Amino acid sequence: MEKLLEIKNLETSFYTHAGEVKAVRGVSFHLDKGEALGIVGESGSGKSITMMSLMRLLSDNGKIKKGELIFDGRDLAKLSEEEMQNIRGNEIGMIFQDPMTSLNPVLTIGDQLTEPLIKHRKMTKQQAFERAVKMMTLVGIPSPESRMKQYPHEFSGGMRQRVMIAMSLVCEPKLIIADEPTTALDVTIQAQILELMKDLKEKINASIILITHDLGVVADVCNRINVMYGGMIVETGSTKDIFYNPKHPYTWGLLKSIPNPNEEERERLIPIDGQPPDLIKPPVGCPFAPRCEYAMKICMTENLPVFEVGENHKAACWLNHQDAPKVEPPVGRRN
Ligand code: SF4
Ligand code: MG
Repeated sequence: MEKLLEIKNLETSFYTHAGEVKAVRGVSFHLDKGEALGIVGESGSGKSITMMSLMRLLSDNGKIKKGELIFDGRDLAKLSEEEMQNIRGNEIGMIFQDPMTSLNPVLTIGDQLTEPLIKHRKMTKQQAFERAVKMMTLVGIPSPESRMKQYPHEFSGGMRQRVMIAMSLVCEPKLIIADEPTTALDVTIQAQILELMKDLKEKINASIILITHDLGVVADVCNRINVMYGGMIVETGSTKDIFYNPKHPYTWGLLKSIPNPNEEERERLIPIDGQPPDLIKPPVGCPFAPRCEYAMKICMTENLPVFEVGENHKAACWLNHQDAPKVEPPVGRRN
């Protein structure tokens, strides 16, 4: 498999009045061409900041302190802002949670869809229009030609998210990053948008990174999953490994808190107790220790190693040490 993206030892911090917030603390992972990767964790786990670092879209007080961001052979950390502008939207497409904030309310959908094609792809207006209509059709927007003249507020939430997806695809990017693309939508529309993303993954040959707090969302779309906590990747593995053979107590907690679509089961949703760690003073050892019912003394005193627990499956948890007490995970199927 050919690598499209490789992030090596990324560290990103924000400088605030209270001190330096170490939001991403040594994150490394890669993405092969055509692969769909899920990045899952609670808010504040560093998942969005990792991708905002890649896109070089951090707020003014944010800084990439260390690391390489190799995308298609170039280190994005070293590119000028001008070069980055040519990559955003063109080589890397983005889909956000709330399309209303990413779409321009005073421009028609047609203008917003054709603008990047005219700018990046040097298309004529007519060529751009045709391509935009094609994309609107691909994402399932009915009567696309007449809807091109409409403004974002004339679309429903679900249709707006489809427009956002069409926009992210219009320049045929090599990578699409979707950050909580379905979080603002109701359950039925959420399922439709996920179905669309799954479908698109087959139809277009783009790689996808799907960021979400809900492990249930990535199950059908992604081949591989990174679980993030406290600015680190705490478990990485195939979707099958993460769901059926999880090796980290935080992953167990996420699996237990997946909402069950079966109405009667809803109340069984179990959130993980406690608060994420203070990233101004990150804990020594395992960041999950204060919330972990299996925590041992070593978890709080020693540097946390990453254990190889299977083929392309790793977990940063002492329970995977050969001398650790045997624990039966409360979720998943053991093989
Ligand atoms: Fe829990 Fe220790 Fe594993 Fe951290 S390293 S998740 S505290 S058992
Ligand atoms: Mg986020």
